Amino acid sequence: MILVTGGAGFIGANFVLDWLAHGDEPVVNLDKLTYAGNLHNLQSVQGDTRHLFVQGDIGDTALVERLLAEHRPRAIVNFAAESHVDRSIHGPEDFIQTNVVGTFRLLEAARHYWQALPATDKEAFRFLHVSTDEVYGTLAPSDPAFTEAHNYEPNSPYSASKAASDHLVRAWHHTYGLPVLTTNCSNNYGPLHFPEKLIPLMIVNALAGKSLPVYGDGMQVRDWLYVKDHCSAIRRVLQAGRVGQTYNVGGWNEKPNIDIVKTVCALLDELRPRSDGHSYAQQITYVQDRPGHDRRYAIDARKIERELGWTPAETFDTGIRKTVQWYLDNPGWVANVQTGAYRDWVAKQYEAA
Ligand code: NAD
Repeated sequence: MILVTGGAGFIGANFVLDWLAHGDEPVVNLDKLTYAGNLHNLQSVQGDTRHLFVQGDIGDTALVERLLAEHRPRAIVNFAAESHVDRSIHGPEDFIQTNVVGTFRLLEAARHYWQALPATDKEAFRFLHVSTDEVYGTLAPSDPAFTEAHNYEPNSPYSASKAASDHLVRAWHHTYGLPVLTTNCSNNYGPLHFPEKLIPLMIVNALAGKSLPVYGDGMQVRDWLYVKDHCSAIRRVLQAGRVGQTYNVGGWNEKPNIDIVKTVCALLDELRPRSDGHSYAQQITYVQDRPGHDRRYAIDARKIERELGWTPAETFDTGIRKTVQWYLDNPGWVANVQTGAYRDWVAKQYEAA
């Protein structure tokens, strides 16, 4: 049994589905169901006795302690977070509450649980914290990619709150001996991605005939990893990662945002051409840049490749094609997360329960 937090969000839900597809070990999935959490993401495992969904907050110590005591997990994988940089600029408070205070409370509950475990279970226990490359700050075009030894220089409220959580995780290992692992991953993309983030926003807006807003000059560079490859990296780190270590996870796919948007447009031109025959690229509109926008992130993933033998299965070309196709095949999912019908659906699930 493992306890996953934030398992109704984009990466967490992909992870839960991936986990259950790769073995029989059950999952308790604790998620607050903020705007970013979506039970539709987990529809394919509805009724699967290996998956127990619990709506709740990682900062609710009594709830977390009860779940740990009842289910006796051998590991906690912490995805739960406020994750959108733009939202963190307009309202940082929730980011501090969940990413910093929430992680602190989860660590404390994990520590008390772990300390009371019998010796063999104690040795096997792991707390895996899922984090981001944004904690390292920004790179100049000629700088080498981020290694695990790079200084922490977070620039947004989001990345600062994730950096704080990474430091807490590190300290809980060094001070209390909690067997932690941390992964710092680059930008994920793939199915189930909430359409406030770049790639799903572009797909959804393009199909709706809306403008495709690109920040500034569109030359901000990010590394991109298909979400299922992130899931396989987390499984691998959980299985074989060295306690107390951090592992950078990335796809060796550095691309400027504008190239991503043009690639999405070209795929849509091929797979779902506009009725007037023009390219979706005509809908691209440059908008005022985000304040403090980091110019470049790049991940050096050699440590996880060398130590744990992990490599991504998808190239950017194969992953982005699968992603665009998934959005074309799942208009119901998109409509639900956009219209608020999803919220009504969740309310009904709970009324019925
Ligand atoms: P997301 O916003 O899609 O999902 C976050 C989930 O956490 C949601 O289901 C939400 O309901 C839940 N949640 C929020 N606050 C909670 C709380 N207090 N208690 C319990 N659940 C809560 O985010 P995501 O993109 O899936 O990211 C998951 C994790 O991976 C985050 O920690 C993020 O920092 C990290 N990460 C994301 C990316 C990326 O590209 N998306 C890259 C690297 C790392």
